[in-house]
Amino acid sequence: MEKEQLVSLEKKYFLPVSKRLPVTLIRGQGTLVWDADGKQYLDFVAGIAAVSLGHCHPELVKAIERQARELMHTSNYYYTVPQVKLAQLLCEAAGLDKVFFCNSGAEAVEGCIKIARKWGKEKREGAFEIIVAENAFHGRTMATVTAAGNEKYREPFAPLLPGFVRVPFNDIDAIKQATTGNTAAVLLEPLQGEGGVNMASDDYLPHVRAWCDEAGILLMLDEVQTGLGRTGKLFAHQHYGVTPDVMAVAKALGGGFPIGAFLAKDQCALLGPGEHGTTFGGNALACEVGYTVLKYMLDHDLPAQVARKGQHLERRLHSLADRHSLVTEIRGMGLIWAIELAGPLAEQAMNIAVEEGLLINNVKPTAIRLIPPLTVSEEEIDQAVGIIDRVLQRLESESPK
Ligand SMILES: *Cc1c(COP(=O)(O)O)cnc(C)c1O
Repeated sequence: MEKEQLVSLEKKYFLPVSKRLPVTLIRGQGTLVWDADGKQYLDFVAGIAAVSLGHCHPELVKAIERQARELMHTSNYYYTVPQVKLAQLLCEAAGLDKVFFCNSGAEAVEGCIKIARKWGKEKREGAFEIIVAENAFHGRTMATVTAAGNEKYREPFAPLLPGFVRVPFNDIDAIKQATTGNTAAVLLEPLQGEGGVNMASDDYLPHVRAWCDEAGILLMLDEVQTGLGRTGKLFAHQHYGVTPDVMAVAKALGGGFPIGAFLAKDQCALLGPGEHGTTFGGNALACEVGYTVLKYMLDHDLPAQVARKGQHLERRLHSLADRHSLVTEIRGMGLIWAIELAGPLAEQAMNIAVEEGLLINNVKPTAIRLIPPLTVSEEEIDQAVGIIDRVLQRLESESPK
């Protein structure tokens, strides 16, 4: 199909919610993708941090082919082997007791919210409020947009779900002040991805953990973007020596295939028979994919590799910042980084990068984000930083002084 035809059919039939770049991707391998004109790109978006093992990883492709031939979907009326294998591997890796599989990050967070409501009802005399952070992102369902910090995602859909109390991120006193007899849980990202790669300060999560224990409320962490190796540990909360009571994961678990999950400690795994469910969630194909991805990560100690490669990327980005006054800040950890620019130039930077053969995204008007596959090589990192160097040069020469 020709590009003009594709563009006009998309315009004719799609809800116009996605702002697309003028690129039709047709093939991927590792960190590379190719468009319909045969142009090659380094992919530092990785399907929004989902393509964790790189595009079309041979072991993942093999697992999908094998499982697709055997059994794809049964519903949860029956046992399947892939589901139970993944449940055991994921619970043991996370140090949590119970898991529920779903199809996306938003659904995983929805599950956490349901647990919080149930916890409040059963253990805190009907408490139902969940404390959430400004600039948070938790998905696009009604409950998760309510939980999120972005007014633009919420405002058109009011009235929203009651019971969400918003506080500034990284402010333990604000959480303490917001906690009342109505509070059931605190829901946070350990590092805010969509909010602009905002890092938790070193003592924030330990303080929140201690406060939740003291107040008898649940600490629920949304590790949908940070989980499964992205930050240089299997889960981002491991950097801070805390364990959540409830956790949502998705993106990287599927390596590009849709799967999500929420996990809980036994004492708050309160959803009983018939109280939650899904048709597609936990199907044999998705779980075989999740199992293959997680097993690969653990067998190859991918989080440690991410930590090493992340240090390399960090050094390269700092030297970039030293050479370009346009760069005002570099922040991130592992393989999630933001480059903050001295002005609303991120969209332009993204567009120039695409011309130069690098996919990155404008996570904020003033910041671009780098989230390559976790299997990216140091050479590919160097190439990407080289392209960003050229992008910054072009921005500096094109923008008025
Ligand atoms: C992407 C994301 C979600 C939503 O996941 P979907 O699969 O798009 O529903 C939720 N929370 C965080 C932190 C995310 O980054």
